[in-house]
Amino acid sequence: MSLTEGGLLQVFQTIIDNLPSGVTLLDKDLRFVAWNSEIKQLLSFPDELFNPDDPPEMAKVARFNARRGEYGPGDPEEQARAVVERARMMMPHVFERTRPDGTVLEIRGRPLPDGGFVSIYTDMTERKRAEEEVRRTASFLQAVLDNLPFGMMVVDKAIRCRYWNRQSEALFELPPGFVRQGIPMEEVLRQVARNGIYGPGDIEDHVARRLKSIGDFEAHTVELTRPDGRSLRIMGAPVLIEGQAEGLVLLQEDITERRNHQATLERLATTDHLTGLMNRRAFLDATEREIRRAHRYGQPLALIMLDVDHFKRINDSFGHPAGDEVLRRVTAACRGMLRDEDLMGRLGGEEFAITLVQPPLPKAAAVAERLRKAVSELVIEHAGRQMTVTISLGIAEINDSINSLDQLISNADACLYTAKREGRNRVCAADDAPMQSPST
Ligand code: GH3
Ligand code: MG
Ligand code: MG
Repeated sequence: MSLTEGGLLQVFQTIIDNLPSGVTLLDKDLRFVAWNSEIKQLLSFPDELFNPDDPPEMAKVARFNARRGEYGPGDPEEQARAVVERARMMMPHVFERTRPDGTVLEIRGRPLPDGGFVSIYTDMTERKRAEEEVRRTASFLQAVLDNLPFGMMVVDKAIRCRYWNRQSEALFELPPGFVRQGIPMEEVLRQVARNGIYGPGDIEDHVARRLKSIGDFEAHTVELTRPDGRSLRIMGAPVLIEGQAEGLVLLQEDITERRNHQATLERLATTDHLTGLMNRRAFLDATEREIRRAHRYGQPLALIMLDVDHFKRINDSFGHPAGDEVLRRVTAACRGMLRDEDLMGRLGGEEFAITLVQPPLPKAAAVAERLRKAVSELVIEHAGRQMTVTISLGIAEINDSINSLDQLISNADACLYTAKREGRNRVCAADDAPMQSPST
């Protein structure tokens, strides 16, 4: 196919008439040779300006534009001259121009080999607005993430980090800028492991283990204790799209305070505040567990019940606070003579119990006797006055006929009653006692 110049122009016109952008063609003398209707519409050019029988020169169009404020504030003649001047340099160019009505145009100019050039005008307003909207949404989302009271990371299907927040960086001691859009989680995990967050051990082992639970895209919870003693809880939850896991949300939380708080509550709930011993409930629960264990392994277990003798008199003569001090000193002395694994609790008032795990009964009697002696030798000072007290003790041990907590307690209690009856400040073991509680 061969085309004349006029034919080519025809082809060019057909193409540009069907483009969604405004297009103009200028010759080397900067006279318009061709334009499409889109350019007239885009720039609201009147028909008379682009009369096909008398195509305008660039200078005319530039002046028209300058006068209607198209180039912003300034002297229109000056502006039009500058525009023509720039065009004369015949340099390729791309720039954006915001029109007085706020429309944003991208203007692209390409010089032609024989002089003149083609300019393409594209309305970028909608795209700009969309881009701005995307930017605003993204920064809004980031602000939301950064203001969450926990760390968060979103991992995509390729196990790359898509979203994260500041708390997440802080919890894992990741330097600012380390986590970037699309970074493989493996790199993040490796840095976290290097920071020692996963504790001692091989870095790559830690990375592989974490990578596995993330890569399974299943709900999971991990708790970690950082080297500085703080505890982290990490919860993973799959991002489900139409029932398919398309990623994972990781929520990371510093649970140190909550854990400490919980530990405090547990301690308060199980401790007797006056003596610091286990309270009745905690002691009985712990003893029950020890009894089960003793049964399982065929080990002996002894229970010693002890009660302060004539304690009412202490209160009556020295006052209630002095009585409290006696209870503290007596129990501290006893606890100090026991092994760590033995249990001691306050059953109520001035009555206490000790569970000896493992020793055979003669030894339990010996322990009880040592406690009795030690307490009888205590000289307790309070408010400048000195007090002495004694305790009575009853012992029971699990055997064929005594095998439950209730039986153990009622037998030890019966012994304690015997010790009291026989004059106090003494030890009585099950063998010496009637097999019944004093109330029956
Ligand atoms: P016995 O030798 O028979 O055990 O006589 P007792 O006086 O020790 O026994 P009793 O059960 O008659 O009295 C116990 C007293 O312990 C009565 C109660 O007011 C007192 N008591 C109970 N709990 C506390 C406490 O926490 N602090 C003080 N100071 N006294 C307490
Ligand atoms: Mg008493
Ligand atoms: Mg009592």
